[in-house]
Amino acid sequence: MKTLRLILGDQLNYNHSWFARNDDNITYVLMEIRQETDYAQHHAQKVIGIFAAMYNFAQYLRKRGHKVMHLLINDPDNTQSLIKNLDQIIKQENFTRFEYLLPDEYRLDEQLKAYCGKLLIASEAFDTEHFLSSRYELKEHFGESKHYLMESFYRMMRRKHGVMMDATQPEGGKWNFDSENRKALGKSTSVPDPLLFDHDFTEIWNEIQRSGAKCLGNPDAEHFSWPVTRRESLQLLRYFTDHLLPLFGTYQDAMSTQHWSLFHSRISFAMNIKMISPAEVIDAVVAEWRKRSEEISIAQTEGFVRQILGWREFMRGVYWANMPQFSQMNYFRHENKLPSWFWNAETKMNCLHHAIKQSLEHAYAHHIQRLMITGNFALLAGIHPDETDAWYLGIYIDAFEWVEITNTRGMSQFADGGIVATKPYTSSANYINNMSNYCKNCAYNHKEKVGADACPFNSLYWDFHARHREVLEKNPRIGMVYKNYDRMSPELKAQVHERAAWCIDNLESL
Ligand code: FAD
Ligand code: SF4
Repeated sequence: MKTLRLILGDQLNYNHSWFARNDDNITYVLMEIRQETDYAQHHAQKVIGIFAAMYNFAQYLRKRGHKVMHLLINDPDNTQSLIKNLDQIIKQENFTRFEYLLPDEYRLDEQLKAYCGKLLIASEAFDTEHFLSSRYELKEHFGESKHYLMESFYRMMRRKHGVMMDATQPEGGKWNFDSENRKALGKSTSVPDPLLFDHDFTEIWNEIQRSGAKCLGNPDAEHFSWPVTRRESLQLLRYFTDHLLPLFGTYQDAMSTQHWSLFHSRISFAMNIKMISPAEVIDAVVAEWRKRSEEISIAQTEGFVRQILGWREFMRGVYWANMPQFSQMNYFRHENKLPSWFWNAETKMNCLHHAIKQSLEHAYAHHIQRLMITGNFALLAGIHPDETDAWYLGIYIDAFEWVEITNTRGMSQFADGGIVATKPYTSSANYINNMSNYCKNCAYNHKEKVGADACPFNSLYWDFHARHREVLEKNPRIGMVYKNYDRMSPELKAQVHERAAWCIDNLESL
């Protein structure tokens, strides 16, 4: 059989069993295509990073004696469509069998299934051998229930994979050490600089521009800082376990105008394109904790393990259990448009200015910036989840739909009505002020609810809850909000709603 094997740009698993033996009858194909550069408007660093990582992966396979075709974006033979390119290659080279790795995105999964359904040659799909749970494991775990509790899934995963377990019980006697984590950054806390690589990818960026693909953000092509090989991914992981893990959990939710990644690992890009696996990331972190248990507390380690063994696998399971319906959900029937400053950071709101500016600069913001600054604002301002999704899918280097949409439409916008989260993640300025230094230099006053210089988060927060009282008041986790709202005088309530209405009518000028 003369076999063609497709590898997508986020399937760069160096340890996949496909590559364990060489076979002259097998050709691997990787493609840079406009279909993929254009399905969302991506950050320039995301496209450059994926193209560079694909190039390195193709070289790696060639060095190991595999036959590889790598279609570049401006190759004259490149039709820019996955299916047309496959058709062309299969015909020209007389392949008699087609194989692919199961895509993580619904749209590509459907496209390849439909393609194989019509193919006249034999075809087969293989697992990417990356995740710790199967596509439908979450669905099986929760059965008919439509609301999934991450904690329950996480505990099942800890038991199943024997991670930080003492026989059947969690090490340290608790499953969750959150209460010891999540502090604001102290004045004297010393934050290590992030590990940045320094690649000159000017040529790749020039080719992307020549192709006509439109990107957003700073390309940083001359000093590209993200890992683009397995070796670099391992170096980034090592840097995390050596320098950042000891305070990861403590400052997991902290935000600062001085530091853009704090104690976060920045490993999501390397993991999402599969240069490094979740199992080896977890193993390295747990091993480091065992080695330096005097210095690294269980709270830091468990906090990190939960993100990967819990949240990451959980989101993937939610995606496959609920697509394609998930992408249409709009529980609050929000209709507003994102203000244009989401693309240039030109807003007087200091927290949003910083979170967006660093996203444009580095294609990265950490979880709390995504959830409690940009996401919180979009939710309170009643932005349509399609708008919010498109922005998140484009701007972050780690954004792939299976993990982007579940976090954005689900966790952050509650547009799924509570499949992912038990309540909407919202806050007024109080939380932002407690967790960051953003409010100190803001044009708005974080203490005020009404008046021209009152922080927009405050009136929008109360207005959002009042607007959606009918559906939210029943939620036992939100009841207190309405008790506090009802304590406000009718005059104050009216002023708050007036201020919120003004903010929503004037999103562009906030
Ligand atoms: P760390 O804080 O160091 O955490 C370690 C790892 O845990 C991450 O690399 C990631 O793989 C995993 N992780 C942590 N939280 C989550 C989560 N909620 N869901 C899934 N995995 C998690 N993550 C993406 O990988 N791609 C996205 O497109 C994406 N979009 C998001 C959109 C919104 C609105 C929100 C609130 C979160 C989003 N996340 C996304 C989750 C999380 O913010 C990122 O995984 C994290 O910021 C990546 O940075 P890091 O590697 O430094 O993470
Ligand atoms: Fe953000 Fe409001 Fe604080 Fe300004 S005052 S930084 S807008 S929370």
